[in-house]
Formats: sequence, structure tokens, C-alpha cells
Amino acid sequence: MKVYDENNVFAKMLKGDIPVNKIYEDDFAIAFADIHPKAPVHLLVIPKGTYTDFSDFTAKASANEIAGFFKAVGKVAEKQGLTENGYRLVMNTGRDGGQEVPHLHVHILAGKKLPF
Ligand code: AMP
Repeated sequence: MKVYDENNVFAKMLKGDIPVNKIYEDDFAIAFADIHPKAPVHLLVIPKGTYTDFSDFTAKASANEIAGFFKAVGKVAEKQGLTENGYRLVMNTGRDGGQEVPHLHVHILAGKKLPF
């Protein structure tokens, strides 16, 4: 089992140790722009709970937290005006999934027709 790294960059954002320009916040999640955008719109949504990745989240989080987090993702997309043209959700998970930051996050990619 992976141990949560309290010093990862998203943990520091949640603790207020480094600044974050939040575009959305509720009881379950915050959202902000990715620092290295890979699409015209590239947002990240992270849960406030300390979960390393999707597997950790689904294993340990309550049903309320899981529902709240995914509702937050939908709200971010809606508030950013992405629902009509659509968007892509990506959750890189673990080493083989290419995950770099060990705090669960959803990428929202949008703003053009994305290649597969
Ligand atoms: P992943 O490879 O799925 O772990 O994605 C981590 C993402 O976090 C990458 O797309 C990075 O560009 C992004 N990232 C890392 N540090 C920051 C930061 N300080 N602010 C915003 N995005 C960040």
C-alpha cells in the first residue's frame, strides 16, 4: 500500500503552503489550471482528502466523498462552459499510468477536438 506524501505539490496547495489560483472550491474539491497545459483548456480537479491515486480513493474514501468529488468535476466543467462542446477526463494512476503528482487528480482537457 502506498503511503501518502504530505509534501507533494497538491498537498502543499491544499495546506496553503504554496499559492493556488482556485477556479472552483467546495467541501470536497478544488480546481485550478494546469501549469503546463496540454490543450487550450487544461484544468485539474483534486479532492480535499489525502488520497494518492484512483485506487486509493475508491478503496478508502466514503461514498459521500466519492460522489462529492465527481459532482465537483462536473460542476467545474459546467462553470467553465465546457459541457456543450465536450471535454476529456484523464486520471493517470500510478507508475504505468504516468502519474507524476501522488495526490489524486482529474485532468479536464478541452477547447478543441482532441486527438485520441
Ligand atoms: P500527472 O502526470 O497526471 O500526475 O499530472 C500532474 C499534473 O500536474 C501535470 O500536468 C503538471 O503540469 C501539473 N502540475 C504540477 N505542478 C503544478 C502546479 N504547481 N500548478 C499547476 N499544475 C501543476
